[in-house]
Amino acid sequence: MISYEEALKLVNDHVSTLGKTRLPLHDMFGCYLAEDVVATMSSPQFDNSAVDGYGVKTADLNGASEASPKRLKLISAIAAGAPQDLQIKDGEAVKIFTGARIPSSCQAVVMREYCREQDSSVFIECSAKPGENIRRTGDEYKKGETVLTAGIKTTPPVIALLASLGHTDYPVFKKPKVALVVTGDELVEPGTPLKDGQIYDSNAYGLTAALNALGIANCKSFVARDTREATREAFEKALYESDMVISSGGVSVGDHDYVKETLEAMGFKTVFWRIAIKPGKPVYFGVLDTEDNGRKYAFGLPGNPVSVLVTFHQIVKPALRKLAGGQFYRDEALRLSTGSALKKRPGRLDFVRGTLRRSENGSTSAIPTRGQESHMLSGLAKAQVMLHFGANLEVLNTDDPVDVTFINWND
Ligand code: AMP
Ligand code: MG
Repeated sequence: MISYEEALKLVNDHVSTLGKTRLPLHDMFGCYLAEDVVATMSSPQFDNSAVDGYGVKTADLNGASEASPKRLKLISAIAAGAPQDLQIKDGEAVKIFTGARIPSSCQAVVMREYCREQDSSVFIECSAKPGENIRRTGDEYKKGETVLTAGIKTTPPVIALLASLGHTDYPVFKKPKVALVVTGDELVEPGTPLKDGQIYDSNAYGLTAALNALGIANCKSFVARDTREATREAFEKALYESDMVISSGGVSVGDHDYVKETLEAMGFKTVFWRIAIKPGKPVYFGVLDTEDNGRKYAFGLPGNPVSVLVTFHQIVKPALRKLAGGQFYRDEALRLSTGSALKKRPGRLDFVRGTLRRSENGSTSAIPTRGQESHMLSGLAKAQVMLHFGANLEVLNTDDPVDVTFINWND
């Protein structure tokens, strides 16, 4: 059995990023940028006001206070979007709104809260420093500067930034197409009555939601009964139009477990099978190089509903990220204290599902949720974090330091 670290390294070594495409801004959420973003203009593009207020010459307000406000002649008002560049002279002010272009003769903007308008004058109750409340051209970045680098996820601010530079579309990497194979004679679709011994298929739902959360939509799932033929048929259909197939169940050493042999019979090269982790020991990963459609990937995840989502989170997500053009990274772990004592046998890294609690002394600890067995979805459903209970450890005492990572389904 290989370690979790080794499994991740093998995944990284075998996954290559899909090709580029160009998508309209409205359709690119959840992709990764395929090209750097170079500023086509400076930000801000022109000097503008950060507040609603009055543009002034600072010398006119020397000594101004609430008790003795200075009176300035109000010459005009400039709204955001107004093109004119009117100028003020000594003793004059101009009313100005947030985002409006600042006349070059204004040295500062005084917030409206310190001003009182009367007839065609404004009384200002404070002094102003040069540049106050003015957003200067290029303060954020200058035309020609690289603002974002390729490989960053197209989150809402990234898409907004592209729009702010005037782009309608942009090069991104193609999103992976993923299909699911769910194996098990015992499985029944929710909504139909259960017969003795049957259970509802929850893995197809959990995995579909997990993929949707990453921005990967339209994932078909195929149910396979526990025979060689049905398993093969389901994998062939699933593979047909996808870059990656993810299966659940049938990957262990049971008499009805056909996933690994089926994938190998279809030509997949096994990269690994079985990892020293808990839950999720029997995870399978294989690759198939096709003549016309590039490399295909198969992850055979275990059947237990917690194992399937934990291994998706810990192993499949990094693979999808790299396939989609993002960075292959291991989540940065926080070093927190263990909230309650844990015991296990040495040998496998245990992903303990937990929540965070802030104690009175200000330190944060990670508390395992109730229901840690691999069939207990409720324990995972309530969890925010994963405690990494090291492979070689047997005991984690309360307050012992432990590596903790967030369970963020969206990233
Ligand atoms: P397996 O690895 O196929 O032996 O499955 C391990 C356990 O997970 C068994 O208890 C299965 O009944 C359960 N299981 C497998 N697939 C699913 C599924 N799609 N939904 C819910 N439970 C499942
Ligand atoms: Mg099974």
